[in-house]
Amino acid sequence: MLDEKLEPIFADVLRRNPGEDEFHQAVREVLDSLGAVIAKHPDYAEAALIERICEPERQIIFRVPWVNDKGQVQINRGFRVQFNSALGPFKGGLRFHPTVLLGTVKFLGFEQVFKNALTGMPIGGGKGGSDFDPKGRSEQEIMRFCQSFMTELWRHLGEYTDVPAGDIGVGQREIGYMFGQYKRISNRYESGVLTGKGMTWGGSRVRTEATGYGAVYFVERMLSTRKQGFEGKNVIVSGAGNVAIYTIEKARKLGGRVIACSDSQGYVVDDSSSGIDLDLLKEIKEKKRGRLSDYAAARGAGVTYVPGGRVWDVPADIAMPSATQNELTAQDARTLAKNGVLAVGEGANMPCTPEAVRVFMEANVLFAAGKAANAGGVATSALEMQQNASRDSWTFEATEQRLAIIMNGIHDRCAEMAEVYGSPGNYVLGANVAGFIRVAEAMRALGIV
Ligand code: NAP
Repeated sequence: MLDEKLEPIFADVLRRNPGEDEFHQAVREVLDSLGAVIAKHPDYAEAALIERICEPERQIIFRVPWVNDKGQVQINRGFRVQFNSALGPFKGGLRFHPTVLLGTVKFLGFEQVFKNALTGMPIGGGKGGSDFDPKGRSEQEIMRFCQSFMTELWRHLGEYTDVPAGDIGVGQREIGYMFGQYKRISNRYESGVLTGKGMTWGGSRVRTEATGYGAVYFVERMLSTRKQGFEGKNVIVSGAGNVAIYTIEKARKLGGRVIACSDSQGYVVDDSSSGIDLDLLKEIKEKKRGRLSDYAAARGAGVTYVPGGRVWDVPADIAMPSATQNELTAQDARTLAKNGVLAVGEGANMPCTPEAVRVFMEANVLFAAGKAANAGGVATSALEMQQNASRDSWTFEATEQRLAIIMNGIHDRCAEMAEVYGSPGNYVLGANVAGFIRVAEAMRALGIV
């Protein structure tokens, strides 16, 4: 329920950002958590602090012209929303997907502000992307698109200004082409301007794995509050991209059996004793950029491929939505709860609808909010920036240890805030309140800017 003092603020967000449903949803979710905070600290509602948090510092929209392999001119739209820099330079990924609109980028940027605050690191929040569809494009087309995108974006970036990374449709290959173009235009080898780089050109170990590993660490710690863990549990994961693959890897390392995953065209159930064959999945998705139907064909008997369909119909103890926003509905949540799911961890950004989250809470299912659970990626990006600044490169073990400490810290801060604000075990409230307070304190200190 929205506090009556926050109602006019939310009404203003709706009025000033028409048609941006996902942005409205993200703002509403945070404001829903803040009633008790402003009751305890009325000063947070002064100086229009909450109104300012809901308004991006800067929004950049630009044309991205490029030429395809047939010599035809293509036009896409590029975005960068620099949402909040109270805690540090804007930081957040770039998404290349045909569904990307300004409202998508704003919702992601808004979430990013609180997520980055939760890591405890000196990073502000932003997000960007384009409605470019990399699927089916040749290597040369991808490179030309990335170069054209960076030819405009570069002037808004800098290691002390704005530091993008990857997201859906943007992995190390795309980061490489964009970093190359930035380097060429700026005439600077400014490693700290982009994260998610390759190991031979300024990247950090564990960055590729970080979001998935981090989400599993968070859920493992959350499960431990009920004296449970991944060991011996059946796990389902949505998506088969970066976050999903490394969620599967870490869940398996902790003794879980991952029996199903999905992509945008269907899902597979692999009921063998060891579950999903991770080497084969990586080969198909990371190297060949193929489909899950190829996985099923390669595995043969014992594996079911369901075109379309809902991966959430597969009974499991732990569910890790790791594909995209609003992919898990109230109906899916009811199915999972009926099948006895113990815990749900959001690897993706806002994958569960607000109604689905309510179903989980009412069913006493442990629920890890994405802002907290998937913060491992950006936290490791900040570690990459630290290594770039000191011209250093840490070992895998040292970096992963830092990640584990950060994720446990985020879990504990969320759990503590949920307790303090009278809703123990509510990680949605805990994440929103802990993230908000850190940003609000910094904004207040910096004055009306
Ligand atoms: P990715 O590597 O591009 O993978 C996305 C996966 O999701 C792909 O397998 C894709 O299927 C699938 N997918 C997309 N839309 C879908 C739909 N409507 N239904 C079912 N599957 C769908 O992207 P990613 O980096 O893993 O990002 C996944 C999510 O995590 C996003 O919400 C992102 O914002 C969030 N996130 C990512 C990071 C990070 O470090 N990468 C950090 C924090 C949060 P296809 O293979 O068919 O395209």
